[in-house]
Amino acid sequence: MKIKFLGGAEEVGRLAVKIEEKNSSVMVDYGVVPDKPPKYPMPPEKVDGLFLTHAHLDHCGGLPMYYHSLDAKFYSTILTANSIKPLLLDSLKIAGLEGYPQMFNSDDVSMLYDHFNEAVYGEQFDLGDFRVTPQSAGHIPGSTMWKFENSQSVMVTGDIYTRDTMLLNGAKPTKADILVIESTYAGKNHEERGQVISRLKSRIAEVVDDGGKVILPTFAVGRTQELAMILADTGYDISIDGMGNSITDIYMHTNGFLRSHSEFLKNIKKTRKIKGWRMRERALDSDIIITTSGMLDGGPVLGYIDKLQNDTKSAIFLTGYQVENTNGRSLLENGTMKIAGVSVKPQMKVDFFDLSAHAGHDDLIRFIKNVDPQKVILCHGEKREELLHDLDGYDVMLPMNGHEFTA
Ligand SMILES: [Zn+2]
Ligand SMILES: [Zn+2]
Repeated sequence: MKIKFLGGAEEVGRLAVKIEEKNSSVMVDYGVVPDKPPKYPMPPEKVDGLFLTHAHLDHCGGLPMYYHSLDAKFYSTILTANSIKPLLLDSLKIAGLEGYPQMFNSDDVSMLYDHFNEAVYGEQFDLGDFRVTPQSAGHIPGSTMWKFENSQSVMVTGDIYTRDTMLLNGAKPTKADILVIESTYAGKNHEERGQVISRLKSRIAEVVDDGGKVILPTFAVGRTQELAMILADTGYDISIDGMGNSITDIYMHTNGFLRSHSEFLKNIKKTRKIKGWRMRERALDSDIIITTSGMLDGGPVLGYIDKLQNDTKSAIFLTGYQVENTNGRSLLENGTMKIAGVSVKPQMKVDFFDLSAHAGHDDLIRFIKNVDPQKVILCHGEKREELLHDLDGYDVMLPMNGHEFTA
């Protein structure tokens, strides 16, 4: 089996993995590094099928580029296919606003859907010489690990989370000869999720009971909905703003992916959906505002912080990883951020709560040992080598972008 990373091998972002055996070839993901400007994988190479793991831009952000010059069948779960549309169209809009070169257009996004084939967890199908099995990756709703079987079997995890959350059940390992696995959190374990959630809830209670408001800058896909679930029983007045609302609508209308769809519907009804500037003014009367973007680099969150920045009783609580050179990272490290190009130092309380949807170091090791592959290929990580000392006895590879190898 020949494997080549067009991106995402030694880095978190722009994952694109090409797998070839005999006369069949597939590509898993074709993402971007959501930098300024975004970085893309190496130019697309012709394959029989494109398989998407999930609706995050570092996995799907470049997919329409493929259809600009080539074509192939496109496979994902229906929830993933529906969720990427607002993301891709928004990234086109941002590229236009910021004056970045546009690598694809809205016609290429439509082309993707012209080639769409729905995959269902656990239901096998054939593409050329490959037998394909999609399985849940536990990372965000709709996320998929892909297993391709020919003379050998190879499983590509995409991003995985192996523990149950309020929204989703964790990924379950199954046997494969070759395992291509993410390693974002190599060398790092997460604080226990239950503890993080109780700490978050009690900090929110302190702020609200003292007359302040809590801004939760949040990723649109998965995290917005998980936070709504986590906070539903607090009884506080919760507003949700930004692209998270479009994704919530998609989740509400797509059955079969969440841990409990009915529980989700019940809890989401306790929140208020903010649309337009008039409602936005009133949203400031809520106790909690959940809003995009998660790293404070755009979206309605900036407007809310702008209004509340001098309110020492209010708080900004971050719950996701903050990439270098983002407003979120800057706020955590030195208390400053930029709003409309102007540097500000909000007087609000700032704190971080690790609600990561990536498996931590020990969970990655446990997952690999349960899959028990002959070969482990580590990707999507900057510190992959930190996993090596816990993988004694395994044949482990740390490939680099652009290098084709036989596994
Ligand atoms: Zn992801
Ligand atoms: Zn990722």
